Amino acid sequence: MKTSLYLVYGGKSAEHEVSLQTAKAVISAVDKAKYDITPIYITSKGEWVRGPQIDGPVDDVKKLQFSNEQATLSALSIFQDTDQADQPTVVFPLLHGPNGEDGTVQGMLELLNVPYVGNGVLASAAGMDKIVMKNLFAQAGLEQVNYVATTKHEWKENQTAIIEEMENHLGYPCFVKPANLGSSVGISKASNREGLIAAMNEALKFDRRIIVEQGVVAREIEVGVLGNEKPACSVVGEIVPTKDFYDYKAKYVDGDTAMIIPAQLSEEIVKEVKEKAIVAYKALDCAGLVRADFFLTEDGQIVINEVNTMPGFTPFSMFPLLWKHAGVEYPDLIEKLVSLALSRYEEKQ
Ligand code: ADP
Ligand code: MG
Ligand code: MG
Repeated sequence: MKTSLYLVYGGKSAEHEVSLQTAKAVISAVDKAKYDITPIYITSKGEWVRGPQIDGPVDDVKKLQFSNEQATLSALSIFQDTDQADQPTVVFPLLHGPNGEDGTVQGMLELLNVPYVGNGVLASAAGMDKIVMKNLFAQAGLEQVNYVATTKHEWKENQTAIIEEMENHLGYPCFVKPANLGSSVGISKASNREGLIAAMNEALKFDRRIIVEQGVVAREIEVGVLGNEKPACSVVGEIVPTKDFYDYKAKYVDGDTAMIIPAQLSEEIVKEVKEKAIVAYKALDCAGLVRADFFLTEDGQIVINEVNTMPGFTPFSMFPLLWKHAGVEYPDLIEKLVSLALSRYEEKQ
């Protein structure tokens, strides 16, 4: 029997365009003999529209003949297919950032009682909030850079004291980040007090919760994790930004950041990175997949930076490439994720 696969893509976040690229790639990769694919496009305004079933590659995932255009409230009925009631159904949220990777869509899918690919509500929400994520990692005993968390309200009330705390605890350079974004949006590096204030103002445009971290000089090491109760790691890779840091433009526009797979690392370091990735996976109760990102400092410390619960997923993104090197090709990776979604769902019933 064929599986009915709903691809949800686009969305209100800054990563809308990236998500479209992913949808296109997934559509052309999946085996049409095994899957009936239904595209569900979320416009930048947040409207949910559903397209016709697809049986071949598409040029532009925005230009499919979307039918029954409906507002978000009707999203609840968008997955219902009476004629396919006996077919296994899986939803694959190809969404990054807020309103997609943060547990909101996952919560809706839980309520609808449909299996979906990837992390559940808790892991998605915790992974999207860098403050909560780092607090959980700290509790799990993972080494991290020093950080200070604050809110818009606290900053307004107590700016001088907060700056002093940051300077004493972190020093310069430091990295100022909105707690709830990805793709480096709103992140800046501050090298002095003036820069810190400017960076705070910039980050506050994107979120009311801010995290400021001690800047480290380090290699950036990434590993893919796949699984539910028994997660496994891919080979370990490295990104080498050509610019000061790995910002949005380097990630998605210039595409000139080098990916080295596998990373040139000793066996011990590789082993430690993988062990720590699994600890991080369990700390957030992840399921399906994450990409765990680390800093390898000059003195050989492996410091976790973050996990991404819906990492970049085009065939040229780090996560699929890490698995390709581990022997799992892109179409097989999609199949593996679908089957993890189904088994997780079945275990819950
Ligand atoms: P995002 O979730 O947006 O990817 P990250 O926390 O990974 O945010 O930060 C983006 C990039 O900024 C990192 O890949 C790294 O290049 C740089 N960076 C972030 N935090 C630090 C830090 N504490 N020290 C040095 N570089 C950092
Ligand atoms: Mg991230
Ligand atoms: Mg990152």
